[in-house]
Amino acid sequence: MVLLCCYTVIPNFGISEIKANGHYGLKPRPPVAEPVGSRVSQRGDKNYGSPSLNLMKKYQGFGKIVIMPNQFFTQTLSTQTPSSIFTLSVAPAKVIRGASMLPAAVDAIARSAVPEAIAFLGSRPLIVAGNYTLSLSQQILQPILQGQQLEIAQATYGADCCEASLESLRQAAKAHQADVIIGVGGGKAMDTAKLVAQQLQLPVVTIPTSASTCAAWSALSNVYSEAGAFLYDVALSRCPDLLILDYDLIQTAPQRTLVAGIGDAIAKWYEASVSSGHLQDTLIIAAVQQARVLRDILFQKSAVALQTPGSEVWREVVDATVLLAGVIGGLGGAQCRTVAAHAVHNGLTHISGHGSIHGEKVAYGILVQLRLEEMVQGNQLAETCRQQLLKFYADIGLPQTLGDLGLGNVTLSELQTAAEIALAPNSDIHRLPFKVVSEQLMAAMVSTTAPIENRDGINRVSSRVMSEEVTE
Ligand SMILES: [Zn+2]
Repeated sequence: MVLLCCYTVIPNFGISEIKANGHYGLKPRPPVAEPVGSRVSQRGDKNYGSPSLNLMKKYQGFGKIVIMPNQFFTQTLSTQTPSSIFTLSVAPAKVIRGASMLPAAVDAIARSAVPEAIAFLGSRPLIVAGNYTLSLSQQILQPILQGQQLEIAQATYGADCCEASLESLRQAAKAHQADVIIGVGGGKAMDTAKLVAQQLQLPVVTIPTSASTCAAWSALSNVYSEAGAFLYDVALSRCPDLLILDYDLIQTAPQRTLVAGIGDAIAKWYEASVSSGHLQDTLIIAAVQQARVLRDILFQKSAVALQTPGSEVWREVVDATVLLAGVIGGLGGAQCRTVAAHAVHNGLTHISGHGSIHGEKVAYGILVQLRLEEMVQGNQLAETCRQQLLKFYADIGLPQTLGDLGLGNVTLSELQTAAEIALAPNSDIHRLPFKVVSEQLMAAMVSTTAPIENRDGINRVSSRVMSEEVTE
């Protein structure tokens, strides 16, 4: 049965925000109305060096800056004091989701005449996939595209979304005279396809084959070394032009990928509530609250979903990890993305943590972050959250310790390396509302399953959580 659900979400758009003070439109503010259940950070904001900010600097001398819908372009209209812009890429221009709907969705790629179809994106696609998904794409996607008289070329991103792969894919796209990039696969294929498309200024279609991240949605690409060590991320000028979420395709992926996707998605709450829980900007409040909703959906539905692949509840969890997690990143922008959980992930990629996938390391990183909040800040709510997560992880099979990540024999010096990378000066770990040193981070990394410290503490914290839920 073909179930096709087609959305025109919020198109990629830019919000112009004019500030005379040269800030990012977000100034440190005292916490006012704490979102229910959030752990409030007192930190101010940082300039994260996104392309919008670089452009902002470039054009500052020209005065007022206007960002038009679907454009990443500035015009000078007046001679006001130096101003700043705030751009936001909220969502793909179109999301098509359903079961067994790839042919119908590809028709939407190829033709603009079909009802609900997007505008014509291209006729010479370059398919970017991993080694495994390349063969999947040959079996499933290519015959459909060829049936539409599209001229296809395909290439693998090789070892990782790394600079060498990006270069060779740019060459492949040019040689093919590609006019659209189609990313097929997991998070790394999505990130590579999006970045190549941006570099060549081509439209991009994302077709995730697993629910392991929200990369099919987001305007962000992570770049790694050829050995798989995290190097940096790139804020893209917009989200993909089309996201095709075919549940049948997602169901072909190992269950472990959805479990990892749950870990990556649930991190949105634990990170966004710390980095942005105190901010009063409307869209950031919305993003943080959506992160809480996402957490609750995952708490309620993950175990059942994993027991019943393909079921309605399973689809709801897939939507949560691929789509809703993307919405939160889109609404929140750079302020609302990551804190210590992803910083720990980044550190682990440098000590051969390749036996585990992104969301698994991030899930473990959440426990490390909560442990830091307990140890450094004496935060009892963090302690209770960690215990709650440990139970949830046990139920669905997310890793709780370094051993669970295949790093049980890690040496002290490797642990130190991971901690130092997580604590690099530009790391998001510094969005925590307290300073962390290497020794503290290493201690947190080896004590993620530590028992709660005293019963008295549990009782007090539990009643606080209950009262927060009651006042909600
Ligand atoms: Zn992530």
